[in-house]
Amino acid sequence: MLCYRCTRYYDEVAWEQELTTDERGVQSFITSQFDQPLQSIFSGNIIDLCPVGALTSRVWRFESRPWDMTHTETICSKCAVGCSVTQWQRRGQLVRVTSHENDDIDEGWICDRGRFDYTDVNDPSRLRTPSIRGARATWADAINAVAAGIKGKGARLGISLPQDITNEEAFLFRRLLDGPLKGAKVKMHGRTAIAAPDGETMRIKEIDDARVIVVVASDLENDVPIIDLRVKKAVGKRGAKLIVVYPDGVDFDRSPQTVHIRNAKGAAAAEVRKLASHELLQNPGGLVAILFGDGRGSENMNELATACGALAEKVGGKEMPLYRATNERGALAAGVAGWDKLERVEALFSWGPPPTAGVPASVKFIAAWDHLPRVGYETAVVLPAATFAERQGSYTNVEGVVQFLRPPIALKQPLMEGWQVLCELGTALGLPMDYSGIVPIQREMKLQTPDPSPEPTPVLVGPAHP
Ligand code: SF4
Repeated sequence: MLCYRCTRYYDEVAWEQELTTDERGVQSFITSQFDQPLQSIFSGNIIDLCPVGALTSRVWRFESRPWDMTHTETICSKCAVGCSVTQWQRRGQLVRVTSHENDDIDEGWICDRGRFDYTDVNDPSRLRTPSIRGARATWADAINAVAAGIKGKGARLGISLPQDITNEEAFLFRRLLDGPLKGAKVKMHGRTAIAAPDGETMRIKEIDDARVIVVVASDLENDVPIIDLRVKKAVGKRGAKLIVVYPDGVDFDRSPQTVHIRNAKGAAAAEVRKLASHELLQNPGGLVAILFGDGRGSENMNELATACGALAEKVGGKEMPLYRATNERGALAAGVAGWDKLERVEALFSWGPPPTAGVPASVKFIAAWDHLPRVGYETAVVLPAATFAERQGSYTNVEGVVQFLRPPIALKQPLMEGWQVLCELGTALGLPMDYSGIVPIQREMKLQTPDPSPEPTPVLVGPAHP
């Protein structure tokens, strides 16, 4: 059987040449170039598109039969694109993640991060009970201990937030930060230096119609992988021209037509200002899409955003700021996407894994809501966390679309959802937050000033799949 769907996908969609056919005639078979392991971060899609099931997931295969599992359509929580995925569970374990087509965002493709990065959900060492300095504790005692350790600290308290905080958790944090935790320093991990948008920004599907695409200060393959494929489609299949302003090599360089301007780090704005006179932008013949990141922190975002705005105005283009953290845009709207330095704080409340830069040496009290054990937790107050496969809530993606999570795995007692933990913590801190479920929180959020974003899109969009 040689249908060449996988090699064609690799060549035309992912712009990779890693898959090939070896031998001749009846001996022919699909293999990787020179027998090397596949490097592409889009390799897993060939599993979904192989019509005979010859290409399988090494993580999932032989684990279970499809009819042993139940599946749920939900949203990937690994970056800001917000691809639709199908998560498969068997006996309370997440055993497989596949794509679920949403033409507005992912067109049925997902990256390998979204497909394979889930085994921590099933980790046997997962935290299941609260603990205080290494000793098991009740929820009530642990939450009271957290409240006692962080209350009234003002700027001496540091709060570390993960990239995949939900909108509902962000809303509750906002309430805490306006009340008993006022003045605390907040750091959201994985976020860019891009400010909240002033209004609506360009939608992912609009990239299809662009005649010229300008990508500035971002390596799309790593920052927003599925948008990378959308740009390749616009260039490869719909004839758009591509200009990249980035200091290092990017995967778009595989096309000889890509105009790659290698700027010095931190000088992207200067290059963007020069682009107004670029020959490709004189008569673009249609939409100019301007996608800009923050150069992983190397760019001055005031300057770069102004330069991109001026270019968009000059050439009649639309802008898409490339937020990186899963719910960066939602956290920005809630006002909790902090950028503070946590050095010198005395108490640290870590919502999710510890800060990527490590726990500051000045910290004397650590409280954490986390799902895995870490070094240092033996002296901390630790609240066991739900994973992305067990959480309810919503994310606002890179283009401003709010999408709702549908957890495939029921939360096992005594675990509690994040919003429940925050409500109990609020009560212990003297700010009763008496919500009977996540829906009342969402209803109250709707009464707040809205983020200038498009209306929520139902998850179940697109043809039934698989
Ligand atoms: S592009 Fe982002 S949202 Fe989509 S599958 Fe990959 S990590 Fe998940």
